[in-house]
Amino acid sequence: MKKDLPPYVIINDPEDKLREILTTPTPSLTFPLSEEDKQDIQTLIAKYDQETPSPVGLAAPQVGINKSFVFVHVPDDPTLKKWRPDLTDTMVRTLLINPCLEEIGEEKSAAYEGCYSVDKLTGPVSRHTTVRYFAHDRDGNAIEGIAHGFLARVLQHEVDHLNGKCILDHIKEEDLMDREEYIKLRQRQIESLMD
Ligand SMILES: [Zn+2]
Repeated sequence: MKKDLPPYVIINDPEDKLREILTTPTPSLTFPLSEEDKQDIQTLIAKYDQETPSPVGLAAPQVGINKSFVFVHVPDDPTLKKWRPDLTDTMVRTLLINPCLEEIGEEKSAAYEGCYSVDKLTGPVSRHTTVRYFAHDRDGNAIEGIAHGFLARVLQHEVDHLNGKCILDHIKEEDLMDREEYIKLRQRQIESLMD
């Protein structure tokens, strides 16, 4: 049985009337969560679960929900590791409510990022390699940790969505690339590394 789920809001689709939600900072949730909040959380997770391969993260505004929560899952997956050699830290399926980040150190690295809210485009995004994260679970319990490498990147990408930002705010115009072209190129590169 497939539930009707909202489509992704697409920032570079001029026809998408909900686009503003992707450029507006989200208000925080308060505890205990309302029934509506719980429904909205279910919607985001259902959206996550219908994708294959699984996304590493989704943020509420991407499905038209103007609230501060994201769903993240960075598994210890060999295929994902081929694409993301800096995947050292993992995260089990985790709902992060009102997440915020603190950058640790000065070190940054650039890597290509895609996004369900950005049609057709990709490009290199420079992110801090280590962040500390703070959030709450659905019962209001504190969640806190330190993330390195790819997980730190995913958290920064998702929390950006809650702050009204997306990858297009980070990528220089001359570095924008067609996403499918990039995937083909990278696939060839990975295959040659495996030989
Ligand atoms: Zn995104």
